[in-house]
Amino acid sequence: PAGFQDGQIRMKRYDTTTISDAELEKILRRPAQKSNEAVMAIVKPIIQAIRERGDAAVLEYTHKFEKATSLKSPVLRAPFPEHLMQLPKETIEAIDISFENIRRFHAAQAEEKPLKIETMPGVVCSRFTRPIERVGLYVPGGTAVLPSTALMLGVPAMVAGCKKIVLASPPRADGRLTPEVVYVAHKVGAESIVLAGGAQAVAALAYGTESVSKVDKILGPGNQFVTAGKMFVSNDTSAGVSIDMPAGPSEVLVIADAAANPAFVASDLLSQAEHGVDSQVILIAVDLNESQLAAIEEQLHVQAMALPRVDIVRGSIAHSVTLQVKTIEEAMTLSNHYAPEHLILQLQNAADVVPLVENAGSVFVGAWTPESVGDYSAGVNHSLPTYGYAKQYSGVNLSSYQKSITCSNLSEEGLKNVGGAVMQLAKVEELEAHRRAVSIRLQAIKQ
Ligand code: NAD
Repeated sequence: PAGFQDGQIRMKRYDTTTISDAELEKILRRPAQKSNEAVMAIVKPIIQAIRERGDAAVLEYTHKFEKATSLKSPVLRAPFPEHLMQLPKETIEAIDISFENIRRFHAAQAEEKPLKIETMPGVVCSRFTRPIERVGLYVPGGTAVLPSTALMLGVPAMVAGCKKIVLASPPRADGRLTPEVVYVAHKVGAESIVLAGGAQAVAALAYGTESVSKVDKILGPGNQFVTAGKMFVSNDTSAGVSIDMPAGPSEVLVIADAAANPAFVASDLLSQAEHGVDSQVILIAVDLNESQLAAIEEQLHVQAMALPRVDIVRGSIAHSVTLQVKTIEEAMTLSNHYAPEHLILQLQNAADVVPLVENAGSVFVGAWTPESVGDYSAGVNHSLPTYGYAKQYSGVNLSSYQKSITCSNLSEEGLKNVGGAVMQLAKVEELEAHRRAVSIRLQAIKQ
């Protein structure tokens, strides 16, 4: 755009009325990830080592990747020592406020009463939920301090009533975790914290070691080694473990019209762009003129230059785009096709547009709802499907920590009513024992 010098931070701009569907498809492609096979080739021997040598192998990898060579045990057990969770008062308050909002929103997701209906007279079908007994929660370490992820994974586990909550997170080089994460682990009633990261932490949770408790489900985001590890163990029937969802780099799609404040729009784009160079941000501009677009672009540049993580922003903005459309309907069609992890609606009547959302991880409505509130404190979860998986996955929620169990209970009358259909279908499928399990009872009723 006019006024921009080389080296300035800006997103490529496309007018959707002038490009083909094929071009649009290319523009909206997520940044390429390292091939799955290449990552798997690194991850498989790590998982094998954990299975064969347990704690010793976990420690070796922590010494290697985290440089935490003084660490002697891979597990910290509750009750966690006070001195490992010393925090400033303001941080404790912030965690406590967020904890309570997340607790309230996830507690409200509990089924009020078990579902129970009579499908035919005397045929009662019901469903009830039970917590998954043991869950492993991966809190990424590596490049950032992420107590918010510990909250987003731990609070719903606590609300669901999971009996054993095990956190895993790579320690710092001094062998310790950031005290914020330990404090959250304490608040959600975690049994232990595995001081390890990557595929080795995932493997330890999936198979168990001398000191790491085996879990039934592993949840939480992480880099490609963590994700590949989760995919591997969930495909191994001998591990008997499930995972929340595949994870990719964070992303946001902002839809803005003339009513949007350019500074707000830019700040939302940047709050995703600073996550990592592989993050992607998309702006859909609804019927904005040249000066309105330029105002957003200028804000993006000026605000970006003032950020400590400006170099990461340069990387992510390089594969981010602005798409110009004429109507909100066009914007929503594009957004639903892209299926963003985060969708921000900075529109005149933002709330009225929510019914048009078909695919998105989490939606942020109106000028006063920056995505950061959902990342930390509003109450909604921030562990969300990325990479277009919002088309088929939900973000982490209470049901991620539960199983539902169905139940049928028939009276004599019920069996008389439904028995004929069962016997006929068993006959079609040539499963005679199935048919007889009904006929033997119907005869007994007759006698
Ligand atoms: P991480 O904890 O995911 O990974 C660190 C681990 O990676 C190390 O412990 C090590 O075991 C492993 N590793 C690193 N290099 C390796 C190599 N060459 N070979 C084998 N293993 C290796 O931390 P990270 O790397 O900082 O990544 C954090 C990720 O989590 C980012 O991709 C970020 O976008 C994502 N994240 C997502 C959300 C969300 O809710 N979507 C939230 C927070 C973080």
